[in-house]
Amino acid sequence: MASIKEILTTMEYGPSPESREHIDAWLAAHRKGFGQFINGRFGEPGALFDVFNPATGEAIASVTQGTAADVDAAVAAARKALPKWAALSGHERARHLYALARNLQKRERFLSVLETIDNGKPLRESRDIDIPLVARHFYHHAGWASLIDSEMPGTRPVGVCGQIIPWNFPLLMLAWKIAPALAAGNTVVLKPAEYTPLTALAFAEICVEAGLPAGVVNIVTGDGATGAALASHEGVDKVAFTGSTDVGRLLRKATAGTGKKLSLELGGKSPFIVFDDADLDSAVEGVVDAIWFNQGQVCCAGSRLLVAEGVAETLYEKLRARMMKLRVGDPLDKSTDIGAIVSPTQLQRIQHLIAEGEKEGLVGWTAEAALPQRGSFYPPTLITGVEPASILAREEIFGPVLVATTFRTSDEAVALANNSRYGLAASVWTENVNRALEVAARIKAGVVWINSTNLFDAASGFGGYRESGFGREGGREGLSEYRVFDIPAGKPSKAPAALNAAPGFTPSETAAGVDRTAKLYVGGKQARPDSGYSYAVLDPKGREIGLAGLGNRKDIRNAVEAAAKATGWGAATAHNRAQVLYYVAENLDARAGEFAQRLTAMTGVSARAAREEVDASIRRAFFYAGFADKFDGAVHSTRTRFVTLAMNEPWGVMGIVCPDDAPLLGFVSLVAPAIAMGNAVVVVPSAAHPFSATDVYSVLDTSDVPGGVVNIVTGEANVLAKTLAEHDGVDALWYVGDKAGAKQVEALSAGNLKATWTVANGLDWSRAEGREFLRRATQVKNIWTPYGE
Ligand code: NDP
Repeated sequence: MASIKEILTTMEYGPSPESREHIDAWLAAHRKGFGQFINGRFGEPGALFDVFNPATGEAIASVTQGTAADVDAAVAAARKALPKWAALSGHERARHLYALARNLQKRERFLSVLETIDNGKPLRESRDIDIPLVARHFYHHAGWASLIDSEMPGTRPVGVCGQIIPWNFPLLMLAWKIAPALAAGNTVVLKPAEYTPLTALAFAEICVEAGLPAGVVNIVTGDGATGAALASHEGVDKVAFTGSTDVGRLLRKATAGTGKKLSLELGGKSPFIVFDDADLDSAVEGVVDAIWFNQGQVCCAGSRLLVAEGVAETLYEKLRARMMKLRVGDPLDKSTDIGAIVSPTQLQRIQHLIAEGEKEGLVGWTAEAALPQRGSFYPPTLITGVEPASILAREEIFGPVLVATTFRTSDEAVALANNSRYGLAASVWTENVNRALEVAARIKAGVVWINSTNLFDAASGFGGYRESGFGREGGREGLSEYRVFDIPAGKPSKAPAALNAAPGFTPSETAAGVDRTAKLYVGGKQARPDSGYSYAVLDPKGREIGLAGLGNRKDIRNAVEAAAKATGWGAATAHNRAQVLYYVAENLDARAGEFAQRLTAMTGVSARAAREEVDASIRRAFFYAGFADKFDGAVHSTRTRFVTLAMNEPWGVMGIVCPDDAPLLGFVSLVAPAIAMGNAVVVVPSAAHPFSATDVYSVLDTSDVPGGVVNIVTGEANVLAKTLAEHDGVDALWYVGDKAGAKQVEALSAGNLKATWTVANGLDWSRAEGREFLRRATQVKNIWTPYGE
């Protein structure tokens, strides 16, 4: 034992291990193995697999490998419990959530220690961050349960939710999933990660203790196959997933065409940007929290350090000095900074990626501290001079490895930050508030922390842009993932009839004796279709009333390119967009008679019905013009001394495939909210009745709509929808059509994980308007800005 004099000289910490006796007693009581928690009780253990302590490699418990029958039973229990749970008053549900929060809080120490033993994270983190946030989530959502009826009118619970969570924040991810689902009136079946199921099982005991009705929460343990069985189960109405982008893609495909709601919170390679005017000492502490928190096994870890060239060497020096002080070791020791990697497999994954980097000549710097002899440990590592194309700058390492690159200008910093297929989070360090907010606005990420990092709160949404997934967790944004917004359904769309391809793109004499050869509309100009072909547009009696361009993949690609160039529209003021939309409405009004006649000629509706559709379209354009500057974001009540700004940002480029019924009103109902929110759109109008849309060209031209904001490609809807769904330049896609088309769109969107909205049951277009369209036309970015000196 060191003397006090020696301690004062070395300033070494002595050991301060946390007691684990309660955990050992609990594990001993379950020595036989854990069964599944279904319908309010634990079943007998089935085929078991071991769970290990990552810090020692010892098996600490065994849990049941979930079978298809287990998933069936759990889904059936959740289904049975659903009507009663959904019918409870908000207040009654709030009391249940509140009871869960209270019971979790009473067990905080137990759950922290159990989490640390199961996952390997330092006790300091599980005790001070994970578990307090778990309780906070249940309290926050107890509040939402009371408020949901008044705060979210016109919505209802989704139903049975299948929830699949990862191992990096086991109980916190459970809370992020279960608390909002229950508050919103749903029941759940949750599958924890294979490596870390223990706190979920302890939570099941808490559900019993807190008197939660049987079947409202069901926990099924198992591996990826159990997760797959849950996600594809017919009785599940919504799938919520957090984990790798690869599995996220599988789930997107597996749920395609099923009508299940889906939210995906996936990987990231988040930039941590340090400008030359940043407070470098604070930035160093930020880096510690960004990449060495939870051993870097954090989806939003600030794993790419981008630093201004002028201060790079100084920052690296400071970082190296700080790294020398990080204590790697027993996670149960209260003075440990960096604990164990969750499993030998994950450790090998990190080692493999580092070896790949070494092949590129990249070598990491680590402090010379001995790692524990047993268990899975990896030292905090800094690798400088990493080119953006390096595997280490592109791939999620999911370990305590920071890769650094320098930049010279703000533009370059933003370009490097956005040079990633991911878009989960970013951290920006500068003392210049103008620069901070400008950069925050330009970064494509769902969360931006200014002079801070890795901050979470139940009141703020969390979730990604691009391949980091879609949907949010936390706050109002997250809650809406667990409600269905009632938009009156219409007639289900039929499979589209084959088009009558005409031999060439030649003007023809039509029944009305007028040339109706509609071209495409791309980049603000009329364009001939790439194929050179057109198709005959028929009236209800089968007479040809004109020709429309038969668009193909190339036309869609051109249109997407034009739309991508027009995304400056999103940066225009909302007032400006409103003015343009009013102008569109006004010009439509001026030609209302002509549009009505065209509708009658195309669809055979009465003159009166046609005029009604035109008038409704004008009203709708006015409606969204009015909303353009009123679909506000929010300032969330998160932490003291932080303004957490939730900004509704446009997706960027949206694809829109329109319905056959209400060819004009359907078109306006979808395009107007999308452009009101600042998106540029590629629209596929009704193939059967395209002229309502193609006649809009001249309205757009005369209404100051900038070229490229609205692009229109006529042709076979499902053929063009396929290209839109596959296109990586399309950020979101709305599809109204038949079931097969909806399935195709969802499955193919897995490529860049674009957000989709498919409507196969039609909409009542006379009532298809409101905030829900605006919500779906935007994604929320939360910007955390600290204040105070
Ligand atoms: P996964 O995405 O495989 O695991 C997440 C969850 O999904 C687990 O519960 C897992 O079960 C389950 N699962 C696995 N396969 C399927 C499937 N086909 N259908 C349904 N559910 C499935 O992540 P890993 O644990 O394999 O980690 C691999 C990498 O993923 C990490 O290195 C990291 O890069 C990334 N990752 C990202 C996370 C994030 O928060 N964004 C979290 C975890 C990992 P089981 O545990 O039994 O495999």
